[in-house]
Amino acid sequence: MIIILFGPPGAGKGTQSDNLVKKFGLIQLSTGDMLRGAIEKGTKLGLEAKAVMDSGELVSDHIIIAMIEEKLKEKSESNGFIFDGFPRNIEQAKALDILLENLNKKLDSVIEISVNDEILIDRIKNRAKEMRDARSDDNADILAKRLKVYHINTEKIIPHYKKMGKLVTVDGMKSIDEVSQEIENNLNLNI
Ligand code: ADP
Repeated sequence: MIIILFGPPGAGKGTQSDNLVKKFGLIQLSTGDMLRGAIEKGTKLGLEAKAVMDSGELVSDHIIIAMIEEKLKEKSESNGFIFDGFPRNIEQAKALDILLENLNKKLDSVIEISVNDEILIDRIKNRAKEMRDARSDDNADILAKRLKVYHINTEKIIPHYKKMGKLVTVDGMKSIDEVSQEIENNLNLNI
């Protein structure tokens, strides 16, 4: 099973993908986590990525696509994958189509977690308070920038997947359990 989970910053992608990992034994490929891992290790890529991430912009496609390709090949025997935070623009979506085709893998569902901007701003402010500097890109100003980047770039992947008949939109303003349920109901059709 191969699933893409996407939505604006603060939509709850992390929580929902953890749930899917537990339930279906999928491998989670989170480009945000991979980049934070590189920053922690202090690699050259990490240093480059940090400045871009802190500004709320997107890290270059070639870096992201190479990271994903490496992980997909490394874990090619897995039960399935859940992409979290990738693809974030149409170029990445097209690159993923090609990668999957070359590996003879089929995308099952693309799940959009939809949440209003006002609610997201409230959530992220709370998260910033709770996490205290744990994520330097989690403050209200940068969130506003990341939301803008989401609307400008990431939402463009919606028609791409709609055309493929893979897009499912769930209401991310319901409770965590209700959102999980809604996602699972939609996935069952494809298992
Ligand atoms: P969230 O889950 O809160 O939306 P992420 O952890 O996925 O955020 O991403 C944090 C930052 O990492 C992004 O704002 C961006 O700078 C960078 N990033 C993560 N994934 C990608 C990607 N697929 N393409 C480009 N940049 C990315």
